[in-house]
Amino acid sequence: MSMGLYAPYITPEMEEHRKKVREFAEKELAPLRQEYEEKNLDGLGKEFPWDLYKKIGERGYLAEHIPKEYGGKGESFLKEIITIEEVARVCGTFSVIVDYTPTLVCNPIFTFGTEEQKKKYLPPLVKGEKVGSYALTEPNAGSDVASIETKAEKKGDKYIINGYKKFIMLGNIADIFLVFAKTKPEAGARGITVFILERDMEGISFPKQEKKLGLRAAPTSEIKLENVEVTEDQILGGPEQENRGIYVALDALDHGRCGVAAQGLGAAQAAFEQALKFASERVQFGTPIISFQAIQWMLADMAMRIDAARLLTYRAAYLRDLAIKGQIERRKVTLPASMAKCYATETATFAAHRAIQIFGGRGYMMDPEYVPIKELPTPEKIYRDCRIFEIYEGTNEIQRYVISREISRLYGIKIK
Ligand SMILES: Cc1cc2nc3c(=O)[nH]c(=O)nc-3n(C[C@H](O)[C@H](O)[C@H](O)COP(=O)(O)OP(=O)(O)OC[C@H]3O[C@@H](n4cnc5c(N)ncnc54)[C@H](O)[C@@H]3O)c2cc1C
Repeated sequence: MSMGLYAPYITPEMEEHRKKVREFAEKELAPLRQEYEEKNLDGLGKEFPWDLYKKIGERGYLAEHIPKEYGGKGESFLKEIITIEEVARVCGTFSVIVDYTPTLVCNPIFTFGTEEQKKKYLPPLVKGEKVGSYALTEPNAGSDVASIETKAEKKGDKYIINGYKKFIMLGNIADIFLVFAKTKPEAGARGITVFILERDMEGISFPKQEKKLGLRAAPTSEIKLENVEVTEDQILGGPEQENRGIYVALDALDHGRCGVAAQGLGAAQAAFEQALKFASERVQFGTPIISFQAIQWMLADMAMRIDAARLLTYRAAYLRDLAIKGQIERRKVTLPASMAKCYATETATFAAHRAIQIFGGRGYMMDPEYVPIKELPTPEKIYRDCRIFEIYEGTNEIQRYVISREISRLYGIKIK
């Protein structure tokens, strides 16, 4: 995978970084994958891998692009993307750890937060001492973000927040929440504000944890907000950012979608490697099945799509780095990030599907005994874990909507 195939995005130094993360993921994370899978068969995520979370934080693999003064490493976002990709290759659930809080909580706080907020919230999040959650989705507002019903009513110098958030990753175990609420409901999307809430604030509860298909060791929950009282200091970016939450949501998603693309990429890579090795070892009709053209073509399609997905993902992250440095407009990342997210996540489901097919009956089984590369997950686990990548942080239908809107703009065509 090195061989300079991804130049100019991936420098030799980044390939070194990949090697280190891969070694760490295979040695320290992979041996615990099955244990956490079995502890969380119902998908409730009650047994969250806190030990790994800490270990990953101590290694400095959370939000690597955050500057040193806020606890980060001041590395490129592209390097962080390689970390997410490599952890996702070893386990989808564990990749949530390196992707979710860093991209959807740390980055918005770094981008939009006041100096005080950055100093207070970033270091513990980046070091893995605290967990952050991004609470946008509601029972009646999924793809249609602007229709959220959570309200923050101003009373004197306070805001009283009431509402209900749904499907929030790590919600019930998080310490810090970015909560989107309407401060000016009549203004629609332009009446949304982001508040930083802390777990011990009065009025926050977690009525339901979800049982899910994949990412089983990472809990997903509802969050109920009942008369949660905060001062205007808890507005992300301070009082002048009131009613500007939609910009936070959009910018955070441009960033986060690069992360989800990297999750897809890692999953696809794992499926491919398992399938390739299995096909070279499994003998039927007196020959390894890789000698059948039907199998070769599946592998060729997987390799081709993974390569394309990787280039899209690295390009998006590279551009995001330029945007973070102020060298290009932030808006320039929207199209490449949506393309990368959409394509890489569909590549993941495609590759997992084909890997199961190549494994035959063994592909359908949960037992790791059937896979040739013990450091990597079984195709069935990859399949279950990666399915959500096409849904969260904007479904792939929404990505296609964003892509067509952006290309129409580029070509000067108006869509009603
Ligand atoms: C495991 C998991 C973790 C999650 N984590 C978080 C989190 O941490 N924070 C958070 O805020 N949210 C989170 N979500 C929510 C996730 O982002 C939403 O589920 C997603 O955005 C889709 O919203 P929805 O489920 O309400 O589906 P809907 O919006 O109801 O969509 C249903 C279907 O209709 C399609 N559709 C909707 N509108 C259009 C349109 N205009 N054009 C074409 N098709 C359309 C969708 O693509 C989809 O296929 C999580 C969800 C899951 C399952």
